[in-house]
Amino acid sequence: MFEGYAGTSDSGFRDEVEAEQALARGQLLAELGADEDRPTLAGPAGAEAEARLAEFARHTVFDGQVVTDEARLRRIVARHDPHVYLGTFGTCVYNPDRALCRTSNDPGAGQPVLADCQPLACRNTALTPANRQALNGHLTKLEEALANRDRLAPYVRHRPEEQHRETAAFLARHAPEPAE
Ligand code: SF4
Repeated sequence: MFEGYAGTSDSGFRDEVEAEQALARGQLLAELGADEDRPTLAGPAGAEAEARLAEFARHTVFDGQVVTDEARLRRIVARHDPHVYLGTFGTCVYNPDRALCRTSNDPGAGQPVLADCQPLACRNTALTPANRQALNGHLTKLEEALANRDRLAPYVRHRPEEQHRETAAFLARHAPEPAE
């Protein structure tokens, strides 16, 4: 949506929006990093997400308190961005070499294209409890759509059946570790 601004005197607007998004993301990630009681992230990139959050917390959490000064947090995000992006159906632990939403020679490869995310297939995906809940909600909707599957033509029911199978298998494969 911002392409119309690129290369014009208004292109600074895009930078401003991205800076605000980075700050908001940094605040959320700092809170996550400071929360010692939260469930561990699961998924193919769950361990990497935890490592990045722990490293980010080294810069943003002091005596259990998250840095609240905006200017300071902006500087920290600029220098130590963990490149973790919270989404609805998955949390992106961005690594451009593994990204399915980008081509390797993409000039904008510095960040993911969340609108093109393929959370079930990408190795950059981690799962928060909210992500699992959203995926389970998606499963329920698919089940409702398939409730009368015998009345649906095979070509109509094929896609939701595939999605259901893939989503259920993904959730089973990446179930969270039981709490100790
Ligand atoms: S496909 Fe999704 S998880 Fe993978 S890099 Fe892109 S946004 Fe991140």
